[in-house]
Amino acid sequence: MQGFEIRDGALAVENVPLTTIAEQVGTPVFVYSAGAIRARYRALSDALAPVGAAIHYAVKANSNQAVISLLREMGAGADVVSGGELARALAAGVPADRIVFAGVGKTREEMAAALDAGIHLFNIESEPELEMLAEVARSKGATARVGLRVNPDVDAKTHAKITTGKAENKFGVPIERAPVFFARAAELDGVEAVALSAHIGSQLLDLEPYRQTYVRLREMALALRAEGYGLTQLDLGGGLGIGYHGQEGPDPQALAAIIREELGDLGLELAVEPGRWLVGAAGVLLARVILVKQGVTKRHVVVDAAMNDLIRPTLYDGYHRIQPVTGCDRPDAGPADVVGPICESGDYLAKDRPLPAVEAGELLAVRDAGAYGAVMSSTYNARPLAPEVLVDGDRWAVIRPRQPVEALIGLDRVPDWIGR
Ligand SMILES: *Cc1c(COP(=O)(O)O)cnc(C)c1O
Repeated sequence: MQGFEIRDGALAVENVPLTTIAEQVGTPVFVYSAGAIRARYRALSDALAPVGAAIHYAVKANSNQAVISLLREMGAGADVVSGGELARALAAGVPADRIVFAGVGKTREEMAAALDAGIHLFNIESEPELEMLAEVARSKGATARVGLRVNPDVDAKTHAKITTGKAENKFGVPIERAPVFFARAAELDGVEAVALSAHIGSQLLDLEPYRQTYVRLREMALALRAEGYGLTQLDLGGGLGIGYHGQEGPDPQALAAIIREELGDLGLELAVEPGRWLVGAAGVLLARVILVKQGVTKRHVVVDAAMNDLIRPTLYDGYHRIQPVTGCDRPDAGPADVVGPICESGDYLAKDRPLPAVEAGELLAVRDAGAYGAVMSSTYNARPLAPEVLVDGDRWAVIRPRQPVEALIGLDRVPDWIGR
């Protein structure tokens, strides 16, 4: 992955040693490479240009304003799944007409905000939601452009918690129901059905499920058009995986080829919604070793980052490579658990991981933490949110300062009927 390099035995992000950032900002800290994000965006947009597919960055992967702004500067639109993300995308300057809104439980307030902003497309996930959106739009004298999120019943072959395209998942409506939905939308004032969308899961390493999905989208798009519906767009979702073990992930050129083969001749506007693929490998979580605890059967490396900072290992069995920031070429000293200080057995960053001998005070880099890292963090155990840093060549900036613990305490209110 472009952006991270070992120089003089130490890990650097572009031209900035991680040790410099740790000294000045402290740990734990998320560090992202702007160059790596740009390179990923360029690779994807170059691959997709011939098929004319737009890129809507899935903001939930990393919603820092600087990251959204960087991708907006590159030309990305945004895929949002909440009113909060809509506000973030707008605040980062993403044009409203390049924003799509997905999610199974949009509230009336969120729908109203998106209508007021004039977003490009609502991806609707159920019939009740269609009725609700039509009602909200009518109350404003507006018309909402909608896509139907269909569930193609395709197995994305990814982790159970991030698969979304099987019949039993809560997302979308069974693809066979699309004609019923388009017929109902045609009867309703306030909505105009223009798209089919599908997002079958996340961290897909095999592209075949995409092909199966596109084949089904194609059949349904042709059927809907034959019935006279004004379908103009296909939203192909996100989910492109990255190589968490350091391997090459799926190739965007190969994805583009499948899009061209299955959908290229339809004359429909196409869009994709990648999140992880653009930012995942462009970030690390930097942690400092607090102490090393040699248990009866295990070496526990206790670090100052924890599950509240990066929950993927315990939530999804997510694998993140972990490496010392200095003296990178030391030999392994057997397996270790890398754990945080939180009072939960689920608080680990790695289990049974071959790791060199490390000492208290050393820095460790948890790789590929640019997506679903900082955005999923919490303040459990009264641990303030970790800061985020963006590196760009020789320059770097704190894009979210460390939250002071006073800010956490200051959020609470003690009623006056509790004694002081
Ligand atoms: C989460 C999500 C995405 C992005 O998923 P990635 O795996 O990060 O690419 C895209 N579209 C929708 C509707 C999503 O919910």
